[in-house]
Amino acid sequence: MTDQLDLWFDPSQCLIDGNWVAPAGGEYLPLENPSTGERIGSIARGTADDIDAAVVSARKAWQGEWGRTSAVERGRALFKLRELVLENVEHLARIEAIDVGKPLKQARADAVALARYLEFYGGAADKLHGDTIPYLDGYTVYTLREPHGVTGHIVPWNYPMQIIGRSVGAALATGNACVLKPAEDACLTALAFADLAIRAGLPAGALNVVPGLGAEAGAALTGHPGIHHISFTGSVATGVYVQTAAARNVVPVTLELGGKSPQLVFEDADLDAALPFLVNAGIQNAGQTCSASSRILVHRSIHDELVGRMGERYASLRVGPALSDLDVGPLISGRQQAIVSSYLDRGDDLEKAAQASLEDVPEGGNYVRPTLFSGVSSAHTLARDEIFGPVQVVIPFEDEDEAVAIANGTDYGLVASIWSRDGARQMRLARKIRSGQVFINNYGAGGGVELPFGGIGKSGHGREKGFEALYGFTTLKTVAAFHG
Ligand code: NAD
Repeated sequence: MTDQLDLWFDPSQCLIDGNWVAPAGGEYLPLENPSTGERIGSIARGTADDIDAAVVSARKAWQGEWGRTSAVERGRALFKLRELVLENVEHLARIEAIDVGKPLKQARADAVALARYLEFYGGAADKLHGDTIPYLDGYTVYTLREPHGVTGHIVPWNYPMQIIGRSVGAALATGNACVLKPAEDACLTALAFADLAIRAGLPAGALNVVPGLGAEAGAALTGHPGIHHISFTGSVATGVYVQTAAARNVVPVTLELGGKSPQLVFEDADLDAALPFLVNAGIQNAGQTCSASSRILVHRSIHDELVGRMGERYASLRVGPALSDLDVGPLISGRQQAIVSSYLDRGDDLEKAAQASLEDVPEGGNYVRPTLFSGVSSAHTLARDEIFGPVQVVIPFEDEDEAVAIANGTDYGLVASIWSRDGARQMRLARKIRSGQVFINNYGAGGGVELPFGGIGKSGHGREKGFEALYGFTTLKTVAAFHG
């Protein structure tokens, strides 16, 4: 079955200390194609022993060759890796499409984004510096930005390539050595990336990859006393667990968790410009996007018009297998399909403004009907919970104050957008909305390598992406020299 994927590496191994090795426990996990439900191979079921070996290797790299590599050479290593990623975009996209169920063009965009992260962080590697600080007479004081040491990276299944690019890319650029635990449902592009990293000449141990279950390999990584920083992207429940484990070792954590991101559409909005963003931000990657816009808040005077126009788009959406490259693919797993379906059931009391058809989907895949609900109260479960499927609710509001109250009325705060031609309103609301990112007359689900990204509230804390991420992956040392 591996032929179907056309892999150039053995997906059932871990990369530890520059070598491909079988998992220490000798056990494997099945891989399924979400588009068809077919078994497509096996991956390693890494355990605490594999994680331990990976951490030891990373420590050796950080204290050894990788730690001694100059900033400019680290940057060049990332550029070399970028070239290899770009040479393999089609290959990586196909692997991701089969493994994650992501339509090919979306998977291709992820591979290109991975290359762009490597370009951005490769270029930034030798531009991060400390300060000199005026102090007492007879002193020279300066700060050094140093890597934490060994960084742990726990990645979810929805955007493996992008999340590896933004977290591992920034960590390597700043001189950390990484242990990456990809998601058990989607680790093939992480392994492909590891193989390209070896080919790019990254020293052994600078990047280790151990696939496995969250409760086993993931928990072993977050609780390991040899880790100096953890970058976690995933669910709130696991984030709490990760932060608790890190607290025991007093280790800093970046948490990129979920969202219930709103787009606020005012009566003076340019609806033609807004419409593609309103729908795409909800159905991209079948809604399995942390920054998906699952709430559309609209001024009551244009509610019906907006719902009608969004509904037309929903009715025309084509759903099908990832390799058919339609608008919406399957969900990642049967489990995710069951969760999203149960939310659709809980919306039975709501008005379904539009649904896409599932006529052309194959048996066995994890498909759900993309659904738009209209006239929804902000108190409804579907307007509060992160559903993580192609489901959007339209919530009417009366005025600006109510719009802000609804926007800020969930546990999350990841991304928001304001659609209005009124400049003063744009500025006012950009300040009032509690969110890590606010877009004005656009919406950037997942986009913008250069833009600091992260949440407040249960969306998490810490920032990845952009130059800002480099501060998170370094620690600041102050040197105060008395020379008289
Ligand atoms: P998840 O929390 O179940 O899994 C994420 C990762 O954590 C996986 O690699 C998993 O193996 C690992 N994990 C699970 N249990 C663990 C444990 N006890 N200790 C350590 N690691 C463990 O989340 P998911 O279902 O893979 O992803 C969906 C969630 O991720 C959604 O809530 C979504 O919003 C969020 N997400 C957020 C962002 C962001 O940037 N903010 C990006 C993508 C996904």
